[in-house]
Amino acid sequence: MRIGIDLDGTVTDPRSCFIYMNESLGYSIDYHRATEYELHTYTTMEQHEFWKFMIEEGHEEAIYRRSLPHSDVLEVLWKLKDEHHLHYVTARSEAVRPVTEEWITSHRLPLDSLVMTGSHDKINVVKDLSLELFMEDRYENAISIHEETSIPVLLFDAPYNRKTLPEGVTRISTWREAHHQIAHIEKQMILNQR
Ligand SMILES: [Mg+2]
Repeated sequence: MRIGIDLDGTVTDPRSCFIYMNESLGYSIDYHRATEYELHTYTTMEQHEFWKFMIEEGHEEAIYRRSLPHSDVLEVLWKLKDEHHLHYVTARSEAVRPVTEEWITSHRLPLDSLVMTGSHDKINVVKDLSLELFMEDRYENAISIHEETSIPVLLFDAPYNRKTLPEGVTRISTWREAHHQIAHIEKQMILNQR
């Protein structure tokens, strides 16, 4: 299968950004109660103002550099790579490709294909690469990708995405669970083709 994989909160541990905000920027966000996806909502800044500050002060790159990998992601991604084509699809911009590639390789994760959209719109990438499955942590992306392309989506559970899911979008908590789900989805696809 051709699998699309988001980076932040999917390959990286979703707590990473909040840890950075608390340790380096002096916030005290309780991750378990972090029901908002957008980081600026935890500050007094508007979204564009927040990201201007993050980029100009070097915090954006630092967050990415210091992100923690999601547990078991290393082992599972290498197993998946044996049987599938893996494409990272991130909303990060091309400007941070160097730090992103460096992070992926320094954590010894597979790196064949990395698409940086610079926006939350990943639907065109899903279509252009004919992806057959997508893995995401942002609720709105998971829903829109499934609605617009009909492919199955695995949503990595986080406090900020706990809303009702339609059939075809499956909530998972761990990469081991993702591995099982992918095997299950592949089996169903083969059966449906017969
Ligand atoms: Mg994400």
